[in-house]
Amino acid sequence: MEPFRSMGLGLLLRCPFCVRGRMFRGWFAMHDDCGACGRSLRMHAGDFSGAAMIAQFAIGVIALPVFIVLAFWTSMTIEAAFLWVLGGSVVALLLFYRNIKGLWFGFLHGAETMQNTPPEGAEGERRPPA
Ligand SMILES: [Zn+2]
Repeated sequence: MEPFRSMGLGLLLRCPFCVRGRMFRGWFAMHDDCGACGRSLRMHAGDFSGAAMIAQFAIGVIALPVFIVLAFWTSMTIEAAFLWVLGGSVVALLLFYRNIKGLWFGFLHGAETMQNTPPEGAEGERRPPA
């Protein structure tokens, strides 16, 4: 459940470590460290490619059907429908930029937590060093 919890907290722009801190200090900039727990919120170069993929997926799932409906089931021309959908997509990306970035940060945090957590019962299976 950790990845889903972390992703939900990221989506709500909350620190996935402590829940109390805020992830962003402005519209686009993240805090380097959580103001509540002090844990690092820095991401590595290239980590944002996942957020870009989420944004592209959302555009494909939402904007394409909207374009098809506007272009073929209304009196709007294809060019006008394209411009409306393009403009709407840009506005939506600006509005939800932080949430998408937070969702991806939460996913990365949750995946990292899962990697570092031993499976249940693993404690009892450990043997002392020879
Ligand atoms: Zn925190």
